[in-house]
Amino acid sequence: MIRIHLLPGREKSVLRRHPWIFDGAILEKNAPAAAGETILLCDSKDRPLARGAWSPASQLRVRVWSFDPAEEIDREFFRRRIGQAVKLREELGFMDIAGGCRLIYSESDSLPGIIVDRYGEFAAVQFLSAGAEFFRETITELLMELPFISGVFERSDASVRQKEALAPRCGHLAGKPLPETIGIVENGMRFETDLKEGQKTGFYFDLRTAREKIRQLAKGKKVLNMFSYTGGFAVAALAGSAVSVINADSSAPALEQCRKNLELNGFFENYENICSDVFELLRKYENSGEKFDLVILDPPKLIPRKSAIVKGCRAYQDLARIGFKLLSPGGMLVNFSCSGAMVPELFQKITADAALQARVNARIIARLEQSPDHPTLLSVPETFYLNGLISVVDR
Ligand code: SAH
Repeated sequence: MIRIHLLPGREKSVLRRHPWIFDGAILEKNAPAAAGETILLCDSKDRPLARGAWSPASQLRVRVWSFDPAEEIDREFFRRRIGQAVKLREELGFMDIAGGCRLIYSESDSLPGIIVDRYGEFAAVQFLSAGAEFFRETITELLMELPFISGVFERSDASVRQKEALAPRCGHLAGKPLPETIGIVENGMRFETDLKEGQKTGFYFDLRTAREKIRQLAKGKKVLNMFSYTGGFAVAALAGSAVSVINADSSAPALEQCRKNLELNGFFENYENICSDVFELLRKYENSGEKFDLVILDPPKLIPRKSAIVKGCRAYQDLARIGFKLLSPGGMLVNFSCSGAMVPELFQKITADAALQARVNARIIARLEQSPDHPTLLSVPETFYLNGLISVVDR
């Protein structure tokens, strides 16, 4: 195995079990290891620290597979890690055969660069790093060995692959071929997903907890569901006896799937789908004076890079300000950020400032985060990304 050495003093993060090693911390930046090959990571005095995957094209030059430098990175290693990830989802009660969940969440399941979402009997896989790509066959075969998986499909079209010099790859990998659409049941709600075209791998499993909360709170409410995508919150709200829901998204195919999902759950009326830019639409509502009892704002990542933080925060605040303004007395705002750079304290501050600007008095009644099948690894705070607040204004 090729030995890669850290520069003096650069082993601290490894000792704290953080799996990312940047090129600047490495002595042999241009070591002759192949993309994805397993290397032995050593400190500057040649003491082994960990085994990791070499990624020659990426600034993130090594991702640690194991902090035990003696642990073989082989089929058995991946079998153990996948087994542990599956066990957790079983314990969470997320392994209903008709349902879905995130089965493997990359660093959080100590499998950096590997994401697997389960849609019933199908696994949708993303190989996002050179190391993950290197073991693609092994991982696919191990997934096929799981008794509840009968087909594996790849959705490695995320932009992060570019940083690893990997081209996008999508398609059938093993087992049963994928149907055009696949249905899953979550807490009695039915959702259909286009696994080939949908965002991420098709469905936002990270919002499961939020859907439950919205269902609980929706009774009797007139709901405005902004950035609705395929209508997860719309179904949840109507399942919770909302009076009406307006969904808006800039994607027409997402709204078409939203309509299908609502119909799948027996909702043929009391909703409206609007294909529009949400920022424009919200201004229209602001001017019209129409009010809502529950406003949901779930935009895409508005801080895609650290450098976009000021602009992104302003956008989150703008959204929340208008959201608060559209509330009827006693109404609720549910606002989210899925930007990794947003920390909970900052999101609360932005929401507080938005309430001030909207001249409302609001109190937080719930804090939301990514569902537990997207756990936060304590040693890798970057695995936390989803903030949500539910705030209630005065009557
Ligand atoms: N709440 C959704 C997930 C939202 S993902 C759910 O429950 O599943 C973010 C959505 O925002 C995507 O569907 C995307 O099409 C949409 N979007 C992005 N920018 C937009 C904009 N400016 N106006 C309207 N929709 C937008």
